[in-house]
Amino acid sequence: MIPALMPTYNRADLAFERGEGAWLWTADGRRYLDFGAGIATSSLGHGHPHLTKVIAEQAAKVMHVSNLYRVPQAEQLAARHVAASFADSVFFCNSGAEANEGMVKAVRKYHAENGHPERFHMICFEGAFHGRTLGMLSATGNEKYLAGFGPPVQGFDHVPFGNMNAVRDAIGPQTAGIMIEPVQGEGGVRPADLRFLRELRAVCDEFGLLLALDEVQTGMGRSGKLWAHQWAGIEPDVMSSAKGIGGGFPLGAILAKEKVAKHLKPGTHGTTYGGGPLACAAGNAVLDVVLAPGFLDQVDRVARVLWRGLLDLAQKHPAVIAGVQGAGLLLGLKLRPEVNNGEMQGACVAEGLLTVAAGMNVLRLAPPLIITEAEVEQALALLDRACLRMTPSQAQVAAK
Ligand SMILES: *Cc1c(COP(=O)(O)O)cnc(C)c1O
Repeated sequence: MIPALMPTYNRADLAFERGEGAWLWTADGRRYLDFGAGIATSSLGHGHPHLTKVIAEQAAKVMHVSNLYRVPQAEQLAARHVAASFADSVFFCNSGAEANEGMVKAVRKYHAENGHPERFHMICFEGAFHGRTLGMLSATGNEKYLAGFGPPVQGFDHVPFGNMNAVRDAIGPQTAGIMIEPVQGEGGVRPADLRFLRELRAVCDEFGLLLALDEVQTGMGRSGKLWAHQWAGIEPDVMSSAKGIGGGFPLGAILAKEKVAKHLKPGTHGTTYGGGPLACAAGNAVLDVVLAPGFLDQVDRVARVLWRGLLDLAQKHPAVIAGVQGAGLLLGLKLRPEVNNGEMQGACVAEGLLTVAAGMNVLRLAPPLIITEAEVEQALALLDRACLRMTPSQAQVAAK
C-alpha cells in the first residue's frame, strides 16, 4: 500500500528530534555532525538563538498579511540586499524554483518591453539544476527528471558547461539571456572557471543578452563571499537566491538591476506567501549574522581548512577519492568509479556524519556556515573512517 506521505524520496531511516549548531540528534539519542545542512540551507545551523528568537517573536505578532499591504520586514530586507549587492530591487518568493521561474520571466519581459518578444530563449548548461517546476525542469534539461512529464517548455537551449565556443554558437536572434550556477550544485559541485564567468558577462554585453545567475545554492555566504559571482569580479543583470537566505525558513528572492526590475509592474508577477512578515524577519536575522564584521572571513578561513584536509584525505585514500572540487563551504569529493557516492554517504552516516550525494558520483559537503575549525577536524576524522569502510579491498573482505 502506498505510504500516506507520497514516496517521492529515498529517505534515510533517520528522524531528527532536535539540533544545536552543526549537530543533530535522533529521538533515541544518536548524534550526527551535519555536513549537509538540509541541502546547503540551514546556513546558521540548528537552533540558532538569534534566528529562532526573531522567528518566534514575529510569529506571535503577525505571520501573514499578503502583498495587498506594505510589509516593513520585506522593505527592510530588500533595502539591505540592495545595499550589499549589485541589485537595485528585490522580489521575494518561497523557493529556489519559484525564484528561477520569476527570474526567467523577468528576462523575457525585459526583451518584450524593449520590442523583442521573439527573444525568449535562455542558454543553459549541461549538468545544471534549476528546480522541479515544469519550466525549471526544462531549464535543467536532465532527461531523467523530464521523463514522463510531457514536452519540455520551449526556450531553453543547453550547451556544455565551460565551453565558450558552444555558447557563442548557441546565440541566435531568439536568445534572451544566459542562465548559470557559478558552482553547479546538484550536478556535481562543479565550479565554473572564473574566467568563463567573465567571458559570459562579456558575451552578454556584446549581444545585448541578460546574464541570469542561479545562486540558490552558492549564495548567502556559502562561497566565502556573500555571492559567489563576486569571486569573478562580475555583476549579473538578475540573480535568484533561496536555500541559505532564510536559514531554513522557506524564502526565495529575485535580485535585479533596475533595467530588468522596472518592467515587472503591478500585476505582472506575484505570490501569496512570498515576502511575508515571518519569512522576511527570518531573512533579516540571517543577514544580521552573515553581514556581521568578520563572519564571511571566518567562513573563508574554515573553508580553506576543510579544503586542505580533503586534499590530504584524497592523497591518503586514492582508491576511494579521485579529486576535490567546489568553492567555500560547498565542496565535493569526486569518488572513483568503483566507489558509489550513495554507499559512501551511507558509510558516513555509519560514522555519524551527514553529507549529501550530488551528480557525477560526487559526495557533497555543505556544512552550516557557523561551523568551527574543530568541527571541521572532527568531520575529516569521520570521513577518514568512512573512506576505510569504502576502500575496495576492505569491501571485498567484508563481502566474503
Ligand atoms: C535547490 C536548487 C534549486 C531549487 O530550489 P527549490 O527551493 O528546491 O525549488 C534551484 N537551483 C539551484 C542551483 C539549487 O541548488
